[in-house]
Amino acid sequence: MGMIESIRGLVASAGRPLRLMEVCGTHTVAIFRHGIRDLLPHDIKLLSGPGCPVCVTSVKDVDTVIALAKEKDVIITTFGDMMRVPGNRQSLFDAKAEGCDIRIVYSPLDALKLAEANSKKKVVFFGTGFETTSPLVAGTLAEAELQRVNNLFIYSVHKTVPPALKCLLEDPDVLIDGLILPGHVTTIIGIAPYDFLVRDYNKPSVVTGFDATDILLGILMLVRQIVQGGAFVENQYARVVRDNGNPRAVALLNQFFEPEDVYWRGIGMIPLSGLRLREEYRHRDIMHTVHVTVPDGQEPKACSCGDVLKGIKVPADCALFGNACTPEKPVGACMVSAEGSCAAYFKYSVARRMNHIC
Ligand code: SF4
Repeated sequence: MGMIESIRGLVASAGRPLRLMEVCGTHTVAIFRHGIRDLLPHDIKLLSGPGCPVCVTSVKDVDTVIALAKEKDVIITTFGDMMRVPGNRQSLFDAKAEGCDIRIVYSPLDALKLAEANSKKKVVFFGTGFETTSPLVAGTLAEAELQRVNNLFIYSVHKTVPPALKCLLEDPDVLIDGLILPGHVTTIIGIAPYDFLVRDYNKPSVVTGFDATDILLGILMLVRQIVQGGAFVENQYARVVRDNGNPRAVALLNQFFEPEDVYWRGIGMIPLSGLRLREEYRHRDIMHTVHVTVPDGQEPKACSCGDVLKGIKVPADCALFGNACTPEKPVGACMVSAEGSCAAYFKYSVARRMNHIC
């Protein structure tokens, strides 16, 4: 029997709709790209989670980086996705248009090269992303230390996935039967950091890869657990993800960073879910060298990003979706990144229906 037929059979035997959350934005996009929603029985509801780094970067962090960009002799570097994220009054693109020196890079190593070439300037890498990205930043800092490139700094808004899952599962409004866990993050951290999902929440979970077969098999494994009343962390992506992850990457990360409480846009403060530089590397934190303060940011009125990131709403439930808020004119951060739930829903559903693509 094929995977889709097996999923159909299991869902029918469940006798109720099943709510599965794909935690990361890469899965959200892959699910749309492969047309997986159309293949699944209606009784499976796929919900997007908080795993899009651009979407969860706070308004205050965007405003702070813009304020840094306005300081003398500062060059800000960041990934392209961050440029259009709305701050309180403007985005990094707006600040660049006003003359701030803000540059898009493809790797933190590009920021290191820029620092070497501009020794009189303070080159700041605006570091976003989860455990997949942060080891690269740690590696770049190790290289900067080795080469004594003293004018490379970071503004870290790096976040970690397991505390966010704990936060969601503590929320009584979040109703999830099972979790499709991110294959790439787990490649770094391994399986053990998810033990609490089973121990404390009895939540079926499957670490899943990103092609169509991976995702369908991950869903099949998840639905089988739910129907059979099990709760395990299974690894569908074993060809890439080892149980103990990548210990060298984790060691590098832990050498430079330590956990701290941070604010997730739309969700709020999540204990120990962020990464700040350890005391011995604080000289690389731009906020210890250049002092700027900005007021707390306001989420745009009527934006439902918080509920979308928690799987309480789907993007189409937001009153602004597709009219006041589009990828060309995003109101909330979930409409900015290609991996944002709202942007993915717009691109693959609304725009397709309107024949804007294909
Ligand atoms: S459609 Fe726009 S305003 Fe609504 S939740 Fe998504 S990003 Fe926020």
